[in-house]
Amino acid sequence: MLAVVQRSVEEGLAPFRRISTAFFWLSAAGLALLVAGSLIIARSITRPVQRLAEAAARVQQGDYARHVDVGQRDEIGQLAVSFNHMLDGIVSREREILRLAYEDVLTGLPNRAMFNQQLEQAVRTARRAAQPLAVLVIDMDRFKAINDTLGHPVGDRALREVGARMRGALRDSDVVARLGGDEFGVLLATGGSQHAPRVVADKIFRALDAPLVVEGQTMDIAASIGIACFPEHGEDAASLLSAADVAMYIAKRGKTGCEVYDPAHHERRQEYLTLLGELRHAVEAGELVLHYQPKIGLAEDRVTSVEALVRWRHPQRGFVPPSEFIGFAEQTGYIGAITQWVLAHAIEQCGRWHHLGLHLCMGVNISARDLRQEDALVQFIFAALAEAQLPAGMLCLEITESALMDDPRSAQSTLRKLREMGVATSIDDYGTGYSSLGYIKQLAVNELKIDRTFVSGMEADHRNAAIVRSTIELGHNLGLAVVAEGVETEHELAQLRRFGCDVAQGYLFARPMDAAALESWLAGAREKTSWKTADALDEARGAR
Ligand code: C2E
Ligand code: MG
Ligand code: MG
Repeated sequence: MLAVVQRSVEEGLAPFRRISTAFFWLSAAGLALLVAGSLIIARSITRPVQRLAEAAARVQQGDYARHVDVGQRDEIGQLAVSFNHMLDGIVSREREILRLAYEDVLTGLPNRAMFNQQLEQAVRTARRAAQPLAVLVIDMDRFKAINDTLGHPVGDRALREVGARMRGALRDSDVVARLGGDEFGVLLATGGSQHAPRVVADKIFRALDAPLVVEGQTMDIAASIGIACFPEHGEDAASLLSAADVAMYIAKRGKTGCEVYDPAHHERRQEYLTLLGELRHAVEAGELVLHYQPKIGLAEDRVTSVEALVRWRHPQRGFVPPSEFIGFAEQTGYIGAITQWVLAHAIEQCGRWHHLGLHLCMGVNISARDLRQEDALVQFIFAALAEAQLPAGMLCLEITESALMDDPRSAQSTLRKLREMGVATSIDDYGTGYSSLGYIKQLAVNELKIDRTFVSGMEADHRNAAIVRSTIELGHNLGLAVVAEGVETEHELAQLRRFGCDVAQGYLFARPMDAAALESWLAGAREKTSWKTADALDEARGAR
């Protein structure tokens, strides 16, 4: 049987066509969706990433100010927030670095770098507008002593207070900076007034007038100020600052408090530098010599000791007295080398005499600065005495009263150490330093040396005689031997004997002289007078 199904192909295929069309549209829609979706995703990722990349490029060029905003809160949004935090961090760190670079951490004032920048800027403006300005350099006096004796933390607090006082005393428009150490700088527009810098210097002095109290310690502070004005003393920042520095140095040296720069200052400073070079050379090349001046024990009428006094045999200038270089050496810090030289040679000479039977105590002058090097000084003396095989009691260190008052703490501690070692000590130029009786009592000294101005003034002014007499009594009450220096006349000597003075020294007996001359003088004196010097003197002279 055969059945014929008569349907058209079209008809037969129609359902498939529908499916296929539907499938086509579905695919097209899917594709469109896919494209749209990818586009959306691409936009939400690539664009913010691009923004971040641009921001990173800006940072690379040093622009930290603009934050990135990606406008979304997803992971990329998170990334942008972190990126912005990082920017903030960089900005605040950079600000801190700048602050550290331009601010003095201790005082919070601008530092030297900032001061220089502002000075340069001010000079540029002053030049354009023909406006005068002034620079002040302020250096604390004896600040090192505060640091050394009271310790650095106290020193730091003192500097902070000094900075605050100066800042408080001046106008907001004046720049106050710490230039380093104990040196401060002030920059001010003078407005054409010639007196303005002096007025400001006075304000600073007044601000520092009241004593500082740090951790219960009261200390007097003082400063030296140098002033330089634009355009008279320097036409650029560097030369102005250097002129103010030179003026400050002159003020400090002359203890005048404040100086305005003067071109002659530079020449003087140059001279000082030459002198310092020559002084160094003097010690190394053996140009220093010691002269010895006898000290006479009045009770036994005998030379008991000598004082070593240094002289400089300058190849061109001849004999230079200590008054012309000791003060200078003290200021420049070179005194330490001179003191060591003097101590070594005086101890050696004393040892040589001692071993020949000529037992003369040796007086050596030391400076305030030497006392601050206490351990170094004590050790040096210890070694020199051991080398010369000399009993410590044969050495007597003379320290001026003003040196003791300069730095009472280290003086006291050094004197105690010397005393423990057996070295004798003497207060030189007594009567000129205003030390109190209480202070003298505490000091471990053996001798008071009355300043020669009182001794030589005894004849003319009975008040001087009264001072000498009461000083002798005071010394004896404190258990100290009393020496009168600068005895020039028989009348003075007679008075001193009457007052009970123990030892006398002066031109009346002998001027300072070198070792050989002293030996001859001692021999002559023994023949002429009843002074009993050891017979070993001849031996000493023979040994030369
Ligand atoms: P000084 O320690 O008070 O020494 C006494 C000074 O008075 C010496 O001066 C001495 O020559 C002088 N003189 C002594 N008798 C008389 C007198 O009868 N009349 C007068 N008008 N003067 C007299 P010189 O040698 O010029 O020393 C001056 C100062 O220099 C010394 O005063 C001392 O402070 C210091 N000096 C000397 N040598 C040294 C040293 O080696 N080291 C230190 N640090 N200072 C020294
Ligand atoms: Mg002396
Ligand atoms: Mg003296």
